[in-house]
Amino acid sequence: MNYTKTEKKLIEAMEQMKIIDAHEHLPPEHVRTDARVDVLVLFAHYTKTDLVTAGLAAKDYEKVVDCEQPLKERWKLFRPFLKEIRYGSYARPAFIAAKEFYGCGDITDKTYMKITERMRDMNKPGIYKKVLRKKCRILTALTQAGRTDYDTKLLTPLMPLDTHARPGSADGVDQKADALGMKVASLDDYLAMVRTALEKLKTERVVGLKTRAQDTSNPDRKEAEELFTKMMDGDANAGNAKPLCDFLKHQLFELCADLDLVVAVHAGMWGDFRQIDSEHMINVFPLHPRTRFDLYHMGMPSVRRTGVIGKNNPNVWLNLCWTHIISPQMTLSALDEYMDMVPMNKIIGFGGDYGRPVEKVYGHLVMARENIATVLGRRVDRGLMGLKEARAIAHKWLYTNPKELYRLDV
Ligand SMILES: [Zn+2]
Repeated sequence: MNYTKTEKKLIEAMEQMKIIDAHEHLPPEHVRTDARVDVLVLFAHYTKTDLVTAGLAAKDYEKVVDCEQPLKERWKLFRPFLKEIRYGSYARPAFIAAKEFYGCGDITDKTYMKITERMRDMNKPGIYKKVLRKKCRILTALTQAGRTDYDTKLLTPLMPLDTHARPGSADGVDQKADALGMKVASLDDYLAMVRTALEKLKTERVVGLKTRAQDTSNPDRKEAEELFTKMMDGDANAGNAKPLCDFLKHQLFELCADLDLVVAVHAGMWGDFRQIDSEHMINVFPLHPRTRFDLYHMGMPSVRRTGVIGKNNPNVWLNLCWTHIISPQMTLSALDEYMDMVPMNKIIGFGGDYGRPVEKVYGHLVMARENIATVLGRRVDRGLMGLKEARAIAHKWLYTNPKELYRLDV
């Protein structure tokens, strides 16, 4: 990509900055290095949507990314769709990875075997450090893979919130209580148990819990107590009933404030995105002024409404994780509007949001830097701010804000 002089200066400045990667799904490194890899791993994860929408059957996609099956056959299956998805922003980090890590300027019939050989060569202990620390200058990446067994500070885990907000059944509750050496007979016992579970997670370096922006009713303790009692008496439906789950969600938001954990909130994009719109949190955020909420993905496609939510709520941060690869153009226009509306200490600039293809984090970061440089660079060139101020803002978005929000010790 070609840049203006100012953009170039800002990108160069950002390349020297230490980064906090504010959202990934990376498991411990051995999960990656124990598995077979090949070029098609670069098209695992988000490009699935584009491939399937382009016409690749969903079952064929599963085959394409299954490295246990012969690569030649899978490449043949995949190749016709590559030309359809290659101009999309989900695909770009794969091409950047092919170039930057594996020395191939394109992914073609001629290069796919070479890339595969080089990927296998690099798929060894140390790959995370090589990609994340050395290439991206990431000090730590906040990661959500439903586990806490990370042996490096390069990764900092978050865990799901909703597991605690859905007690499910009396048996399930008993099992959880046994594991913690506790007894649960009442709703208050359950809440005490959840607090203990969260305290335990904190000792495992967990810095936040993740939920989704879903319709959530105001808390009703009486109704929740009745449902909880019914569940403990064996009513299978009561343990997943909405008034109980919603009550518990509100309690969990308060517990997170007590224990200094951030509540990360997924908003937008998946499936029926109307059901996970950031709008659902409008009634929730003001009820928990002590709780710090990290609202994800600009709520895409509801980027404007999400911006206004960020503007109006002191306890809400706007996290641009995933957005730079969903659509750089949507991110650019929305980030420009956020600059108008939201204080600079409330924007979190980058989260790669990858699981298996760790090397794509780098390409995503390149795109994030471009977007940030474009938005800030325009303001510099129009005389709205100086280059030094623009650099300082970029540093806040990529480092200071996520570090302070999550109280990271890096
Ligand atoms: Zn994610």
